Amino acid sequence: MDSLPLLADHPYASFLDQVEKPARYAGGEVGSVVKDWASVEARVCLAFPDVYDIGMSHLGFKILYKLLNDDPRTLAERCYAPWVDMEAQLVERGLPLVSLESARPLRDFDVVGFSLQFELTYSNILTMLHLGGVPLRANDRGEDDPIVIAGGPTATHPEPIAPFLDALVIGDGEEKATEVALTWTRLKREGVPRRERLIAIARLGAVYVPSLYATRLDPDTGLEVVDRPLVDGIPFPVDRALVDLNRYPFPDESPTGGPEAIFDRMSIEIARGCTEGCRFCQAGMIYRPVRERDPEQIVDTVMRAVQRSGQDEVSLTALSTADVSCISPLVKKVTERLTKERISLGVSSLRAYGLEPDLLDELKRVRATGLTFAPEAGTQRMRDVVNKNVTEEQLLETAERVFSRGWGKMKLYFMIGLPTETDEDVRGIVETGARAAGAGRRAAGKGKPVDVTVSVSTHVPKPHTPFQWAAMDTLAEVGRKQQLLKDTVRPYRAVTLKTHEAHASVLEGIFARGDRPLADVLERAWRSGARFDSWDDQLKLSVWEEAFSHFGVDRARYLGTLPVTARLPWDHIDVGLEEGFLAREYRKALQSRLSPPCGKVAGTFVHHTNLEDASADTRRLVCYDCGVACDMTQMREERLTFLDRLGAHKRSLPVLTDAAASPPADAAPPSAAAASSPAEPAHLVEAESPPAGEAELPRESAEDPARAETAAPPRAKPRAPAPKGRGGFRYRFRFEKTGPMALLGHLDVVRELPRVLRRVGAPMTYTAGFHPKPDMTFSPALSLGVISLDEYVDLRLERELDPAALEALVASMSAASPRGLVFRGAVKLGPEDPALSKLIAGARYALAFARSAIGADAEAVLAARCSAALSAASLPIRREIERLAKMVDVRQYLVRAEVGGPDVLSALAQAGLVGDLVALEVEVDIRGSGAVKSSEVAAVIAGEPGEAPGAITPPPHRAVRLQLFGRAAPSGAAAGERFSLFDLERARRVKSAPAPAPSLALAADAE
Ligand code: SF4
Repeated sequence: MDSLPLLADHPYASFLDQVEKPARYAGGEVGSVVKDWASVEARVCLAFPDVYDIGMSHLGFKILYKLLNDDPRTLAERCYAPWVDMEAQLVERGLPLVSLESARPLRDFDVVGFSLQFELTYSNILTMLHLGGVPLRANDRGEDDPIVIAGGPTATHPEPIAPFLDALVIGDGEEKATEVALTWTRLKREGVPRRERLIAIARLGAVYVPSLYATRLDPDTGLEVVDRPLVDGIPFPVDRALVDLNRYPFPDESPTGGPEAIFDRMSIEIARGCTEGCRFCQAGMIYRPVRERDPEQIVDTVMRAVQRSGQDEVSLTALSTADVSCISPLVKKVTERLTKERISLGVSSLRAYGLEPDLLDELKRVRATGLTFAPEAGTQRMRDVVNKNVTEEQLLETAERVFSRGWGKMKLYFMIGLPTETDEDVRGIVETGARAAGAGRRAAGKGKPVDVTVSVSTHVPKPHTPFQWAAMDTLAEVGRKQQLLKDTVRPYRAVTLKTHEAHASVLEGIFARGDRPLADVLERAWRSGARFDSWDDQLKLSVWEEAFSHFGVDRARYLGTLPVTARLPWDHIDVGLEEGFLAREYRKALQSRLSPPCGKVAGTFVHHTNLEDASADTRRLVCYDCGVACDMTQMREERLTFLDRLGAHKRSLPVLTDAAASPPADAAPPSAAAASSPAEPAHLVEAESPPAGEAELPRESAEDPARAETAAPPRAKPRAPAPKGRGGFRYRFRFEKTGPMALLGHLDVVRELPRVLRRVGAPMTYTAGFHPKPDMTFSPALSLGVISLDEYVDLRLERELDPAALEALVASMSAASPRGLVFRGAVKLGPEDPALSKLIAGARYALAFARSAIGADAEAVLAARCSAALSAASLPIRREIERLAKMVDVRQYLVRAEVGGPDVLSALAQAGLVGDLVALEVEVDIRGSGAVKSSEVAAVIAGEPGEAPGAITPPPHRAVRLQLFGRAAPSGAAAGERFSLFDLERARRVKSAPAPAPSLALAADAE
């Protein structure tokens, strides 16, 4: 049964705390924008077909959100795929999927814009449309339905999802998003019929409207291809949009303060595109040419973003950050500025070569516990095939450097299923890992642990890459190769092998090279329950099997080798590459021939780091005439300008000479990371949450979003916040958690507080040690959904503040906090003041019930229940934590229970709870040995016994923590009296109390 609503006027208010991570759906983050619908011409819902935690890390989403909300003519709100438990709730209750900002259903918007990151999110798109009240198929949409558009890397090969979309934006979305939205709403206002509006949208350019094109079966492949436009004046093929990035500075703010995103840092795009030419990497092909952002603009953006977000880690991202031309001086400049603010520069990815000792020293000093590289293939021949320009010697040298510095772990990413792969190449993956472990063991010294994890995924040939024609391994072949890996790894104890679930990769492969008829398969699988297909624990193979069989679809047709001469289902999308380029690269791959990176001086693989060297080097820049027609003169001049702007005039850093750093003659520059371009709704850039404390090094594949990461520069100087030990000045803050904050987990609140303080310019001090952390201690954690009007935190600030400054700080903190986090006061603590954990002895709660839930004469009923509970010798209840059950005697902690009077009802109103309510006021002890939850108190007083011993279900209620307090020492005139945690004089006397001091270890039990 539902509890009392936590969020006023929200359709999910009464049940949000019954779903996992309810704050995913509550909104109210700092930086979220709620605009007046009547004030704009076009309302856009940015829809991300995966959960909030993943979508919030997506850079393209942040770009469009800011762009559309900064424009007075448009607004943008967000919506993420509901997790399966939330979907079940919405279906059961007949409620629509709504946006985070205004809680409006998707059907109310003018434009619903999906971010197409990869194929295994397609089923979630159908879920979101269906729950959002939008007809699934474009053909079924009426005059008043929104236009459903999509963008992102997968929009370049969209046929399987095309029937569900009205239009796809191809390429960079910055200009097109606004143009499409305003054109659509203007024509609608003018009364233009839907189909005519779609034709007008198609004529804007860089927009593909699937319903306006005819398809036919291609005899060479048996696949359906797009044959011709059905109306005049629309493009065929459809080319892509390309913007000047410097006209669209990267946003310096975006929503923050909700549940933790998978990449919880401020990521700033510094370039789009990549020159490294990895042949499996779609992002490296479709986002050409490389466009670098003005470094001065980047530095400004970084500093503003840090101030506005309050985050303490920044990451500079690009498909291959290490290959941005001015990366070394840029990192130096950014680091200089960030160090003053004690902000870390996230070193998320580096090359496996040229990894210099000083950088490793820095990494070690900060917090990395392991390093990650992506050689991708296990033999040099195979690395040449994929154009992955790293040699084993470089990898082993790096392993030595890593392990000699005391790291115990190293992770290597590989793929199986690459074209021309032999069993020797497969075994080579494990053997490379074993040699890295051997090199590491020698470098680490006797007795030191060395663990190399070899993580092996399955290659999925992607459209618009040189491997688009290559066959994908069958499931049986993947299984055989995985077994071969397992057999090979057996003797190597220092190597840990991880293989990936292959069924999902095969499904991805089918939909990546799929055609329009697959839409029927998708819809059928979705109707049978396909959801979150990229999540191993959610993928339902049987429903996909059934859907393929139902339509008689031969999956092998999509997975086999395709003729290079055949017309392909994505050939009507022109990403800018010249026709023969991909075929040339494919042929070179089959001959194991490398293509050194373009846009760099011939024969080199790193950019000059200073103007002096760069100006003097007049050698030609490599170019393969791929079709995007870079202006090499302009490219050279721009790089000189950027070095000049960064003040990198002279050689100040040790120069990595070609002789010292180049790969051997038969190799070429390694490419680094491949996060997808984040510009328009682009591929999820940062999809894997690195293990805590693990620095990610080269992330070189954009093909596997579970592995994609950002690159980082070779001379990055990450700085941890300066360890201050227990320095600084100590304060106690009091705050409230209401509305969406009551739905946020305790750890999310702990994470948010230092950010609030940084936003208002009052940085905290950090603990000493290897992993410095903001120095703070919170009052006991609350269960999700419990409101509190009286929370506390003890923390240390760098600055000493007088009472007036402290009061001003408290006021400014609320304004800089997510909705529902309100600071009510602060006091300065001295060294003699006991910590919260020594003081807190009890809590007072209001347990609010709807009068209708208790019945007639509710006060009398509850009064009788209170009296019975207080007279009971024991009140046992069963508590389950992580499937372990124990019995708790609530009576041991219950001090007082009575029907709440007007003061309690007015506190409920302050907490946002209104209506015909009746409340209990209860007081409980919090002891060092344990405590009880408010729900347990509600259960034993007002609940109904369940079937299992000790199981009692509380009636629907909402708990509000009214007060946390200390207790006077048990002797003396005021023995046992409650006192405020701001009453420092009485608090100091507690020190001498013989009673056991509650510790924060009890926090989890306390509420
Ligand atoms: S035109 Fe030349 S330099 Fe530009 S991306 Fe293509 S190959 Fe590289």
